[in-house]
Amino acid sequence: MNREVIIADGTIKASEHALDYGIAMNIAGGTHHAYTNRGEAFCLLNDQAIGARYLLQKRLIKKVLIVDLDVHQGNGTAEIFKNDTDVFTFSMHGASNYPFKKEQSDLDIALANGTEDENYLKILKETLPNLIETQKPDFIYYLCGVDILASDKLGKLGCTINGCKERDRFVLQTCKDLSIPVMCSMGGGYSPEIKIIVDAHANTFRLAQDIFF
Ligand SMILES: [Zn+2]
Repeated sequence: MNREVIIADGTIKASEHALDYGIAMNIAGGTHHAYTNRGEAFCLLNDQAIGARYLLQKRLIKKVLIVDLDVHQGNGTAEIFKNDTDVFTFSMHGASNYPFKKEQSDLDIALANGTEDENYLKILKETLPNLIETQKPDFIYYLCGVDILASDKLGKLGCTINGCKERDRFVLQTCKDLSIPVMCSMGGGYSPEIKIIVDAHANTFRLAQDIFF
């Protein structure tokens, strides 16, 4: 429990930093299976939901877009914000991945098993700019799980590490171009070779450095 409190606190602090610097990241977090009143899977407290509520209640922002690209649906996040018009929840995930009973996000895109880079990126690039245009968020939470990789033990998609990097580049560059602050939480990654997980997560940080600083 203590660990989850520290992680959520990190996401709150990162949310404030993102307002100051355009971007901030939590090296943990992305605990999107935690609901309003219960934990699920590896998640006890929903760090990005807590961060979003914190910024909204302090009136530091008006409208949040949650971009959840972890391979698992952000079911807890969808439930927490289901009646909240200040937070738009977008989840793009593997159709046959956990959770098997999915919640309804404001926008869900469920991808077929084995979806590869080309299709994945095409769908993302068609979707995200339109969402930003229609929802007009002044803050974005990005859940950048790397369990979309073909090598992932739990994920059922077929993306490469370069595809995953291009995904991150597109999201971060879009936020930067539109001057929308973005806070990133790590999310999942379960490739058997630890090096691949570390590389994929490190790419997100490298891109943030390249794009923002
Ligand atoms: Zn995941």
